[in-house]
Amino acid sequence: MTRSADLTAGCRLCPRECLNIPSEEQPGRCHVPRAAGFFRVARLMDHPWEEPYISGSKGSGTVFFSGCSLGCLFCQNEAISHRAHGETMRSDQLLQAMEDLAARQVHNLNLVTASHYGDHLSRLLPVLKQRLKKRGRLIPVVWNSSAYEKTDMLAALADSESVDVFLPDLKFFDPELSGRLAAAPDYFVRASQAILAMHRLRPDHQFSDDGLLLRGLALRHLVLPGAWRDSLTLIDFIAANLPPDTPVALMRQYTPPTNARLREQIGAIMPRLLHKVTSYEYDKVCEHAEKRGLKRLLFQEPASADSRFTPDFTG
Ligand code: SF4
Repeated sequence: MTRSADLTAGCRLCPRECLNIPSEEQPGRCHVPRAAGFFRVARLMDHPWEEPYISGSKGSGTVFFSGCSLGCLFCQNEAISHRAHGETMRSDQLLQAMEDLAARQVHNLNLVTASHYGDHLSRLLPVLKQRLKKRGRLIPVVWNSSAYEKTDMLAALADSESVDVFLPDLKFFDPELSGRLAAAPDYFVRASQAILAMHRLRPDHQFSDDGLLLRGLALRHLVLPGAWRDSLTLIDFIAANLPPDTPVALMRQYTPPTNARLREQIGAIMPRLLHKVTSYEYDKVCEHAEKRGLKRLLFQEPASADSRFTPDFTG
């Protein structure tokens, strides 16, 4: 059971454990209020640029939630994660919007950064699935997260059959790095526990005949400029703790921020983040993953580091 239903003593849904009661005037560290029955959503779209086993040929029905409980300084979607751009939707409106999105023949529903709504969604998604089943459009639900999450919330999502595929992005190993870039020195401790729980909850991979992931765990890792050694340690963790056929996407799509305020902030903390990842750094990480025996690796071309691939959240 998640422990967030009673918010009178603050919110403890995620590892931040905010002491205030998250409201419109005083949101928690996730930047959005957490009133039951309300969500803030930035965009719903068919997403063609996720991994091939998620986007397939028809796209992934993606719901970008506003706010984020991790809030990395360099976030590519900072308009929605830091500044919480988006619209407030009641749960019945979100339900209808997700049903409409599923009707567009997308391969799955892909919930991006929804951890701060995990308790509400573990009640809403079973209703959605019932409705989709009645319409003959029951498709997998993908939980696309930062992995900075509590295991009891993940268990609630899995036990209620709300989520079929866990798709976490394992970001940092070094507590000093995660402390500087996300104010979360406990990131790896929390994220590694979360990923091992996801594996226990969805231990087997099920793929469709055309290669789409229907159920299971798939990982991502964004290689950061100046931090490739941290990436190697994360790969060691994956190789030592998860089956070698776990899908792992090694991403080189990091793009330096264009916002002047962020550039100044990031430049003061880690100037290498004002540049893209080099081929030397990215290749080091890829070679290490192959050496450690990971069998289902996905790589990206240098051209992927382009802000044109980041959805627009300003409209
Ligand atoms: S979900 Fe939001 S309000 Fe709740 S503990 Fe996490 S950051 Fe704080």
